[in-house]
Amino acid sequence: MKITFLGATHEVTGSCTLIETNGKNILIDCGMEQGADVFLNEELPVNSANIDCVFLTHAHIDHSGKLPLLCKNGFDGKIYATEETVNLCKIMLMDSAHIQEFEAEWRNRKAKRSGMPPYEPMYTTQDAQNAVAKMYGSKYDEIKEVCENVSIRFNDMGHLLGSASIEIWITESDVTKKIVFSGDVGNKSRPILNNPKMIDEADYLIVESTYGDKLHEKAADTLPILVSCIQRTLDRGGNVVIPSFAVGRTQEILYHLRKIKTDGLVKGHDGFPVYVDSPLANEATAIFLQSDPMDFDDEIRELFKQGTNPLVFPDLKMSVSSDESKEINFDSTPKVIISASGMCEAGRIRHHLKHNLWRRESLILFVGYQANGTLGRILLDGAKEVKLFGEPITVEAELFLMPGISGHADKEGLLEWINGFEKKPTIVFVNHGEDGVAEGFAKLLHDEYSLNAVTPYSGTSYDLLTGEVVSQTKGIRIEKKEGQRPHDERAAKVFTRLISACEKLLRVAKSREGMANKELGRFADQVEQLAEKWSR
Ligand SMILES: [Zn+2]
Ligand SMILES: [Zn+2]
Repeated sequence: MKITFLGATHEVTGSCTLIETNGKNILIDCGMEQGADVFLNEELPVNSANIDCVFLTHAHIDHSGKLPLLCKNGFDGKIYATEETVNLCKIMLMDSAHIQEFEAEWRNRKAKRSGMPPYEPMYTTQDAQNAVAKMYGSKYDEIKEVCENVSIRFNDMGHLLGSASIEIWITESDVTKKIVFSGDVGNKSRPILNNPKMIDEADYLIVESTYGDKLHEKAADTLPILVSCIQRTLDRGGNVVIPSFAVGRTQEILYHLRKIKTDGLVKGHDGFPVYVDSPLANEATAIFLQSDPMDFDDEIRELFKQGTNPLVFPDLKMSVSSDESKEINFDSTPKVIISASGMCEAGRIRHHLKHNLWRRESLILFVGYQANGTLGRILLDGAKEVKLFGEPITVEAELFLMPGISGHADKEGLLEWINGFEKKPTIVFVNHGEDGVAEGFAKLLHDEYSLNAVTPYSGTSYDLLTGEVVSQTKGIRIEKKEGQRPHDERAAKVFTRLISACEKLLRVAKSREGMANKELGRFADQVEQLAEKWSR
């Protein structure tokens, strides 16, 4: 019984952990790395075709985004997740595949012009469909035997619709160990979803630490702040433009807007239009509204019971076509426009920014974290001019960052959840947090709560029967020095792999002496073709 940490180790994205037991290989999450890559991740130590099953905590791409690639590489097992996670993955993995295909198409147009070999997307929409076809939806709170000696249970974590912690019971050599993966821990003070469910015991706990060093600002202020943003913008004849993540955050904004509309909190602008200009966001809203009421908090459940739709209201305009999207800004009625992507890196939001950034009367309302290097961060850092669709746009609009809005528990929330364990885990593995944050949080757990907390790097593995380290790795930092080509250890590693593959080919060729001339000729042709292809 062995656990190997692969992704989201000393960094926040790319969640992926391998458990080997009774000859079976199980992955917990299979996420994509997003944003700046800080540490080198070990490759999957077993062939994708030899992975027997995947347990998925939730649909966010940093946990699910590489499932189509796993399928492309030969995985043919089952993916277990909650029913809502499966529904969200249907749209989110397809969206991710569209982005991959779009990028490949764009690169290939350039590659063709410069005579470079074609660029292959990481995966296609077909691979995404294959991944979704392998998903099996479970309900929260039910123990399910997934194979002999392995049972699991999903528990609501209130981080995203369908998000879960996973309890895993594994029996090997008549010994049963319980391993708990927190997934992402939800923020108790957010509306719509339930609070994270407590778990009473575990032998081993793997816990996230995104905000292990921070306390969120009080979130009860969101509604009045939103009211005041809309009031002052509409009063001066501008538009409120909200770059928003399509799944989760958009529905939270709609929930607040419904309240604002129903209670008439914005004065003097009856019937002001609200546009949700993102097909993915609208598909996600439909999934929210079709979900089991038990997935939501008491307030939303009560609204459903009264027959009130908690996310929809008069003057809400969804299902906007691409042409209509462009028209929105040619109508002078002051309005609220919610669009994706949340960090302004792609998508329709860029059109709305082009039409509103230069307008002193408009307001760009950021409702989520803006990572370094993104257009959202550049704007918040005070850029006076940005380029959109090749055109320089002056920044005159008001910019505002909504405080205290996060889907993750802060330090206090994480500690509360961890302290819910009545029996202390033998080891707490802290991951899914930036380098210093994960280490600081592990130190806090150790010093103040007497927990044996560690922060494994990618490639480190432990024997879960004994709790001993099997292999200890050090983090390999991907350094980027200014003005220099990035010293990328990953590139060096992949290059070494290529050279050893070529040496292997030479060994095979030498061992074929005496083979039929026809076969030798065919082999030589293939090698020459390969050499020709890559020397272009
Ligand atoms: Zn998440
Ligand atoms: Zn995450």
